[in-house]
Amino acid sequence: MGTSRNYQTQGIILKQTKLGESDKIVTIYTPEFGKLKAVAKGACRPGSKLGGNVEPLTYSLMLLAKGRNLDIITQSQTMNGFLALKSDLWRMACGLYILELIDSFTVEGGENRPLFDLLLDILDQLSEPDSKETVLRYFELHLLHHLGYRPQLRRCVNCDSSLKPVVNFFSPSKGGLLCPHCSSEENHSYDQIEPISLTPPLPVSVGALKVLRLWQSCDYATARRVKVRPELAREVEQVLQQYISCILQRELKSLTWLKELRKEIAAP
Ligand SMILES: [Zn+2]
Repeated sequence: MGTSRNYQTQGIILKQTKLGESDKIVTIYTPEFGKLKAVAKGACRPGSKLGGNVEPLTYSLMLLAKGRNLDIITQSQTMNGFLALKSDLWRMACGLYILELIDSFTVEGGENRPLFDLLLDILDQLSEPDSKETVLRYFELHLLHHLGYRPQLRRCVNCDSSLKPVVNFFSPSKGGLLCPHCSSEENHSYDQIEPISLTPPLPVSVGALKVLRLWQSCDYATARRVKVRPELAREVEQVLQQYISCILQRELKSLTWLKELRKEIAAP
């Protein structure tokens, strides 16, 4: 340490890909440098000291050396391997979905300390034995906020009127709610232009809107105490996932797996 060619960082491992016979390229989310890619030399070799410390879903402290293209991880130490989370298939699937969200929404560089803190906090919460799916919705809402996509849930995104306690409509392409009046006009315009690239507005009940607004503005300890009926939970989930896939213009692989798994768990 101390020379300008070496630096230390903590980070959460998002993913790894093989590089040649024995090396790995590791994608890390760090508090100081945002997303970062680095090489872990020899990480694929059996008994490699680096190997386990650079597996996805690991919080590690690393020493890196500046490389010509990618920096090189020279030392690594696990600070939290989230073993409780990894020992349960459902919670591991949730964890991988969270990592894929971070990876999909960020580019390399670009420090975002609140996002790092949120990620670390959520992985800790998910490690708790009684963690529920609320943790995913809370993460989605706050991820969107920290990346500048905070959904507008108070006023109509078209006419700016404050929303009434009736069924309103969420427009994924506009990133917020439409009042019933603007929504009917919007729906009409979908018949004429770009019917494929835009997602039509989704109805949002008064109850689902209350939950979304509360989770958007409270801390996780409060969010987890809210009892949400399954129908409302599905509605909230749909709104957030349509919005996210509209921004990313694709479905996440880990989400498909998560949904499959949920069906299997629910089946007798
Ligand atoms: Zn309106």
